[in-house]
Amino acid sequence: MTQVSSYATQSATDVLKPFKIERRIVGTHDVQIKIEYCGVCHSDIHYARDEWSSWSGGSLYPAVPGHEIIGKVISVGGDVTAFKIGDQVGVGVMVDSCQTCHECKDGLEQFCTSKILTYGSLDPKHENNITFGGYSEQIVVDEKFVLRVPDNIDLKGAAPLLCAGITTWSPLKHWNVGKGSTVGIIGLGGLGHMGIKFAHALGCKVVMITTSPKKAVDAKKLGADEVLISTDEVAMAKYANNFDLLLNTIPVAHNVNPYITLLKRDATMVIVGALLPLPDLNAAGLVFGRKKIAGSIIGGIQETQEMLDFCGKHNIVAEVEVIDIQTINQAFDRTIKGDVKYRFVIDMRSLV
Ligand code: NAP
Ligand code: ZN
Repeated sequence: MTQVSSYATQSATDVLKPFKIERRIVGTHDVQIKIEYCGVCHSDIHYARDEWSSWSGGSLYPAVPGHEIIGKVISVGGDVTAFKIGDQVGVGVMVDSCQTCHECKDGLEQFCTSKILTYGSLDPKHENNITFGGYSEQIVVDEKFVLRVPDNIDLKGAAPLLCAGITTWSPLKHWNVGKGSTVGIIGLGGLGHMGIKFAHALGCKVVMITTSPKKAVDAKKLGADEVLISTDEVAMAKYANNFDLLLNTIPVAHNVNPYITLLKRDATMVIVGALLPLPDLNAAGLVFGRKKIAGSIIGGIQETQEMLDFCGKHNIVAEVEVIDIQTINQAFDRTIKGDVKYRFVIDMRSLV
């Protein structure tokens, strides 16, 4: 075991503070990574504050969040073939899965019911210890869940690709949008800004759908063709029956009906944000137009690698504000207020 520094919270109402954790001995298939950058996903906040108990059974404490990890390999187990010391790598939301179920065999480890999340899972292969995430000095991960980071991309901007990136990339690919598609990205935050970049890069017409008129200029710089203010009923009416796909990143319970109105016949709104009951659904909005609401969660490991390679080829990274770990609690509060352009990334050198 190696003792390393981290930031953890001990309860839903506590703040994150310095905390020592143990990392396991590097096993034969393991990669030990010195963490350089870690993005601050809104999911880290939901988890630290136990806001997902309706489906997760409640957060486990101590909780060390962080699943947008970039770092360098500092040692490898004897049977590791894909990585060597010094490689630049990433780790996202998962660190293991059963590898035998249909989902794993299809490369869709995100749907494996035995997957081990980067933080907040009990890991049966390792004494049922709670997994601890990237707000820490180091992490030890099975090589199957380690990603290669293209050499040419900025590392701080690459960190959010490991969650915000793949979470928006995967549904755009699954629903097969491209040239000729009109895609609406709902919510301009960490996920939303990656959604704009990817939809634009894939050749879609992109409309940013936001509650914040002041973000309109940025949305266009990021690649949106048009901006729709969702609180403006007249503007919303003009866009009725217009979209082939809506990607909904809103992190809280909300009324989905005005967004359903925006879909074309047979089109889909994919929810990736609110993992919560949405009680106000008026099914009539779906029925008249055979419209669909779907969900999506991150993406498989192979797909995550494809996304990273696409980012390398097209030089796509997140827009980030780099912070020291000591300001993480303020960063949580600012994320909730939407006061970040557009992802906080922790420089992990600040930890030691
Ligand atoms: P974020 O950076 O906080 O961005 C969320 C954006 O949603 C805000 O910037 C805001 O954009 C909009 N918004 C916030 N409150 C709203 C409200 N009450 N009504 C309408 N719009 C609102 O969050 P994020 O990191 O992008 O994450 C978004 C959600 O996705 C979180 O719940 C997170 O847990 C979840 N998530 C899911 C997955 C998955 O695999 N499914 C992966 C990662 C994250 P505007 O100002 O533009 O309106
Ligand atoms: Zn995340």
